[in-house]
Amino acid sequence: MIDVHDLPALRALARRLKVPEVELRRAEKALFKHRLPVSEVLAALPEAAREPARTQVDWAPLELVSRQDSALDGASKLAFRTRDGAVIESVMLRFHTGRSSLCLSTQVGCAADCAFCATGKLGLKRNLTAAEIIDQVLQAARLFRAEGRTLRNLVFMGMGEPLHNEMAVSEALEALRDPARFNFPDRYIVVSTVGVPAAMVRFAERFPGVNLALSLHSAREEVRRWLVPTTKRHPLAELRAAAEAVTARQKTPLMIEYLLFDGLTDTEADLAAVQDFVAGIPVHINLIPFNAIAGAEHQGLRGTPQARREAFGAALKRAGLKVTLRRSLGADIDGACGQLARSAQGG
Ligand code: SAH
Repeated sequence: MIDVHDLPALRALARRLKVPEVELRRAEKALFKHRLPVSEVLAALPEAAREPARTQVDWAPLELVSRQDSALDGASKLAFRTRDGAVIESVMLRFHTGRSSLCLSTQVGCAADCAFCATGKLGLKRNLTAAEIIDQVLQAARLFRAEGRTLRNLVFMGMGEPLHNEMAVSEALEALRDPARFNFPDRYIVVSTVGVPAAMVRFAERFPGVNLALSLHSAREEVRRWLVPTTKRHPLAELRAAAEAVTARQKTPLMIEYLLFDGLTDTEADLAAVQDFVAGIPVHINLIPFNAIAGAEHQGLRGTPQARREAFGAALKRAGLKVTLRRSLGADIDGACGQLARSAQGG
């Protein structure tokens, strides 16, 4: 079987099937640019090539097994089954402005084990392949298209830590940016990381225009060690050095994600620590509300109420920083940040 996301193999097959160049290009356009259903992609091929192409190509590495639409907002959570029976999730996001985004997964489970994140509770099962990462985009893009929408933004903020699966994520990014295929502009892609310093710098070198987001959440060592256990391996000083190196290589400011927890990450001491951490580095800070997950109340984790989130943001702005207060979509379908953990229920 030839993987639909292995372009050289796909083209080699087309040559074996004697598909003329024009028809091959037309089929590729139908597949990646217009995101048409497979039947219509096959119809773009010469008659004799259709059946062999249908059977020799693995047209969908992932099987869509369920879809939940939020009753609150424009989010839909998609669950996909991999060939080996794992279930991963992606979230379609529809904003009032008309913009459509996809939040996608890079691993089955995650090794980072952040205190506030449902995916971490699963542990790491395995990395996704590049084809499995790309297929989330292709399948969601088809669904958006059927609604008359165009998928514009890709955020690597689903299950898993992208920079713990550097090879497959890089390969997927190449395909998604490829003008002959998906042609996503760099500026519409965000890759979010828990903070893997060496991989962050390599990423910035290879993809200087793709947005990188660092999930900081606390700039106090003790607190961050508790919230984000990978801090034990990579202390804040190391992250700060990586942030400097990244911004020296990238065109856009480093995005900083910061979760506001009542009494834990939203105090005066936290305000000062964040300012220290980002001093002299071009950053854009996103303040994120905590989305409740099972077990959080036992750990004493409570989100900061909105009024104080706004005050925290205002204080950072007064200090001259670029700040956005985020809101989360899809909370009622467990599709918001940190709530993706489908495989915990055995799929
Ligand atoms: N592993 C990557 C990307 C996945 S999570 C990372 O850590 O950045 C995407 C974002 O959602 C991260 O900033 C993460 O910290 C945040 N997040 C995780 N659990 C959350 C929760 N329960 N509520 C709100 N945001 C959460």
